Amino acid sequence: MIREEMIVACCTDLAGKVRGKAFPARQFDLRKKRGVGWTPTNVQITCFDAIAESPFGALGDLVLIPDEKARVRVVLEDGGDAEHFALGDIKHTDGRPWEFCTRSILKSALERLERLTGLTLYGAFEHEFQFRDGPSRLGDAYTSDGFRRGRDFAETLLAAMRNAGLEPDTFMKEFGASQYEATIGPVRGVAIADQATILRELVRLVGERLERPVTFTPIRDPASVGNGVHIHLSFLDRTGKPATYDPKGPYGLGSHAGQFIAGILKYLDAIIAITAPSVVSYLRLTPHRWSAAFNNLGFRDREASVRICPVSDLSDIAKAAQFNFEFRAADAAASPHLQLAAIVHAGAQGIEEGLSVPQATEEDLSLLDAAALRARGYVRLPQGLEEALDRFRTNAVVTGWFPSGFADVYVKHKRGEQAYLGERNQTEICGLYEQVY
Ligand code: GLU
Ligand code: MG
Repeated sequence: MIREEMIVACCTDLAGKVRGKAFPARQFDLRKKRGVGWTPTNVQITCFDAIAESPFGALGDLVLIPDEKARVRVVLEDGGDAEHFALGDIKHTDGRPWEFCTRSILKSALERLERLTGLTLYGAFEHEFQFRDGPSRLGDAYTSDGFRRGRDFAETLLAAMRNAGLEPDTFMKEFGASQYEATIGPVRGVAIADQATILRELVRLVGERLERPVTFTPIRDPASVGNGVHIHLSFLDRTGKPATYDPKGPYGLGSHAGQFIAGILKYLDAIIAITAPSVVSYLRLTPHRWSAAFNNLGFRDREASVRICPVSDLSDIAKAAQFNFEFRAADAAASPHLQLAAIVHAGAQGIEEGLSVPQATEEDLSLLDAAALRARGYVRLPQGLEEALDRFRTNAVVTGWFPSGFADVYVKHKRGEQAYLGERNQTEICGLYEQVY
């Protein structure tokens, strides 16, 4: 049979989905200027394929421009198709970035940070996911046995990651039933979110080829643990040198890093609608699941929204280059571009406001009542999507970081997602999210 290879120009959207359009791969050089046509109302397609209330209706035209730097071509050599796609930016036909293009929103957040501080963001997303096939074996958590059952998957993924230009780091059998975790090395700027997206796509690709379907859903079963996305971040200065660590600063944080974290924690309850954006995200963000339930800083504490990660004297990497912090109140129902944009804006806001570094917690905050929490400057994070959307919508500082009209469209999108769920019970709702993420 004759065939001609196609490439998909795509982007992450408000539903955290990767959507796009394919064109003949041989046209890439033309299309990287001209793009492919795109429709504004697509932004209101929810993860359940229903269209939420859209201000655009049937009107308008946009172009999606694939970026050579985010182009991936992977051949698994199993006799199957080449995987070929390029992430890109959505623009108005006159070339202005579209207000709802997640990648453009991230670029402008990164520009704000660079304008303010001269710093470049350096980091990587860590992903947890679960195989959906068969029951998990009891006693597999973190075991070599558990790894063995995922070895063919892991090694195919490893090769695919290298092909795609990602730096493989670790792979392990996580704690949860059929749960695994993949980590990659850090990169700069918008590539942090691009590579997170590419990793998710590769995990799905390998899962499909090996007939081991995967899910990144925030939580499959409220009686168990969730699938977290942990976003590791640090800064580089203009010369490319690490600029996060100061041995004399609180917890080793340099002043910009400290203010950045303070900003994230101050605005966390209002950005969580973006970083953990599904209805089931809030089943995961509960105490004692090693996720995040309060806007607290943790020093090597896995029950904190932002955790300062350890540095080791044994590493061949200098301490200043190892030093990073991790944002834990995120999951894979979100666009990596949008969640990183929200974090960077919150951090930049903290720098602008000159906030001081909060005390790291070393206790179980779930034991404190509301008054005690308030006295210590903590908030319990929203406990449902509706509450999270309200905190976002009503925080003028936060909505002001995004292009005009964005907040309103985002809230309408999420309301459309909620409406689809109707009167379904929790098990049914978890089942639906497991299918779509
Ligand atoms: N599964 C946990 C989460 O939902 C994280 C476990 C860990 O610390 O790796 O974020
Ligand atoms: Mg983990």
